[in-house]
Order: sequence, then C-alpha cells, then structure tokens
Amino acid sequence: MTQGHYVRTAEIKEKYRQAKLGSKHPLWKSDDVSYVQLHKWVRSRIPLPIICPKCCNPNKLQLANITGKYTRDLDNWQYMCRRCHFHFDKQPRNPTNGKFEVID
Ligand SMILES: [Zn+2]
Repeated sequence: MTQGHYVRTAEIKEKYRQAKLGSKHPLWKSDDVSYVQLHKWVRSRIPLPIICPKCCNPNKLQLANITGKYTRDLDNWQYMCRRCHFHFDKQPRNPTNGKFEVID
C-alpha cells in the first residue's frame, strides 16, 4: 500500500485551470449574461491601468462600454476615469453601428 498524499503541482493546477476557462467552464453563459456578471468577466480580463488613458488622471477608473453592445468582445470595453466616462457616455452615437461618433 502506498502512503503519502497527492500533490498538485503548479503545472497540474494550470492544466486544470485552462481546462475550465471561458466557454469550457460548466457555468459558461455565452453572451446571455447579466450586466454585473459581464462587467466582472471583462474586468478580470482587461488589466486595470494606473492612470486614465484619456486624461492621464490617476483617479479611480471605471469600465466603460465603447460600442453600446454588451458582449464579451473585449474591444467593446475600456477603462477610464469617472469624469471621462461621464463625458464619453454623453457623446451622440451612430445609430447604424452604435459607436460613438468623433466630434471635432
Ligand atoms: Zn479621464
């Protein structure tokens, strides 16, 4: 009879982690996911910058939706400070693609 205990090495742990990532996870909900859960999901995948990429302010940053589409496409999301987020959301959107129009 063998004695001792089973040790999970970092390599084995990473293998298990990879096997359950994203769509392979049993609780995966595709794009049909609640607003809060989607924000959590995106937050865990986009690194939080130290400063606001728009105004370089080191204020607390918020996750802003860029296109108005609440999907898991990470290009739809960007961190910015509260002030920039507020002004960004006030911009008129293009009705055909939902993207914010550039105003000179
Ligand atoms: Zn800012």
